[in-house]
Amino acid sequence: MKIQFLGTGAAANHGRYNSSILINDKILLDCGPTSVANLKKIGLKTEDISTIFISHLHGDHFIGLPFFFLDSVILEKRQNPLILVAPKETISKVLKIAEIVYGGSLKKKLLLDYPLNFVSIEGSFYEEEISECNFQAIQTKHGEELAYNLILDFNGKKLGYSGDSEFCETLQQTASKVDVMICERTSPKEKLKGHCCGDEIEILAKGMKTDSNLILTHFVETEIQNSNPNFIYPNDFEKFYF
Ligand SMILES: [Zn+2]
Repeated sequence: MKIQFLGTGAAANHGRYNSSILINDKILLDCGPTSVANLKKIGLKTEDISTIFISHLHGDHFIGLPFFFLDSVILEKRQNPLILVAPKETISKVLKIAEIVYGGSLKKKLLLDYPLNFVSIEGSFYEEEISECNFQAIQTKHGEELAYNLILDFNGKKLGYSGDSEFCETLQQTASKVDVMICERTSPKEKLKGHCCGDEIEILAKGMKTDSNLILTHFVETEIQNSNPNFIYPNDFEKFYF
């Protein structure tokens, strides 16, 4: 499994790009505002992406979607299908944003020019076979927003992703099941509502399998101080193989 970070920053941060993680050069976990530009910086096109998973509908995790669609229609004239796996209000929100910022005619064009397979995540637990993986979404706690922890199972190798999540039982259960966990650690020490901090990550790690890997992301700070050598702290564009 190849994991490359297109953005490792929290919604407000000191110089990192926003959340987007590329898996095996064709799957995106979240699509923040900077995702399309960063995909191109590493030599890929939006049409190289087969599937996008969205953890929740906060702007730093999904607001790249209107631009992803725009690029697909206007520049790449995409023909191959795109699978979008996301909370059920995603399409209506993307279209609303497109209408506000570009007007109604573009809104109509955005989703019609190539096959879009929208898989709507609903309920507190959702499971589906999606392209080459088994997918699970487990509802977690993140303030008022409906948010999910995601698990992608690639033939027995399980990848977990917290999107945004406060430290809770759901997050601990998700982390305990997977081989590689990508977890948000928004602030090093200060407890921010709806998010994890460094001390909580130490507890989370204790509940994980001994041979698993914990990658942290969604940082406020640019330079990571007092990093724990047992955890991985990626920078933007850094890649890992598992
Ligand atoms: Zn976020």
